[in-house]
Amino acid sequence: MKVNVLGSGATSPSSRRACASYLVDEKYLFDIGPGSYMNLMKAGLDQNMINAVFISHLHGDHVYDLGVFLWGMATRERKEKLLVYGPKGIAALISHVLSDANTPVSFLKFDIETVEVSAGDTIHGGSVQTAMGEHAAYDLIYRMGDFCYTGDTRPVLATATLAKGCKMLLHESSFPARLEKEAHTYWHSTSVDAARIAAMADVENLILVHISPVQEVNAAEMLEEAKENFHGRVMLASDLAEFLF
Ligand SMILES: [Zn+2]
Repeated sequence: MKVNVLGSGATSPSSRRACASYLVDEKYLFDIGPGSYMNLMKAGLDQNMINAVFISHLHGDHVYDLGVFLWGMATRERKEKLLVYGPKGIAALISHVLSDANTPVSFLKFDIETVEVSAGDTIHGGSVQTAMGEHAAYDLIYRMGDFCYTGDTRPVLATATLAKGCKMLLHESSFPARLEKEAHTYWHSTSVDAARIAAMADVENLILVHISPVQEVNAAEMLEEAKENFHGRVMLASDLAEFLF
């Protein structure tokens, strides 16, 4: 499997990070944060190769490039159906994105099929399992084969269970451990939380993701303390990184 990081950031884009977006095997897009479309172009990848989008939760830093992707696909003559999975509200969001921006629907020569997912559902022909995170918005944790992605969540056992034995866990790491109280108050995880979940799940590789502009100064600290708490491989995601596993 291959993961292209299209957005390793959070909250709002910075000069070095777009917001949450990860492309698996050039076909499956997990979250679609602002700036991710531009990174897809920079990576030299084709938006029309994407056949399914998986949205973790309905917060702006995970969905704001949705309209950009749809319009990019429309203007590059996409014909194949696009599947979009997400929590309840995803269908309404897509409808608003198109209609409120006065997008002439006749320009879209492809169908968009939305599937509203409840945590625990197995989807996409049985190839993707889901679990529930703990976040301010309803958060879906996804597993596809050896890849698992948390979206935004406090540290939860559900992640460790879903990710059990997988090769690559992308776990949000919004704060360093010394800001644990703040992290949990705002329904997020620290880097040490991510490391402990990775250890419980016995994954091979932990990728820390969801680095906000405010926490950029703490990125090296987060990586170090995650390494101290998990003895598999730990990496900090960066935009345009490519992971093969
Ligand atoms: Zn977020």
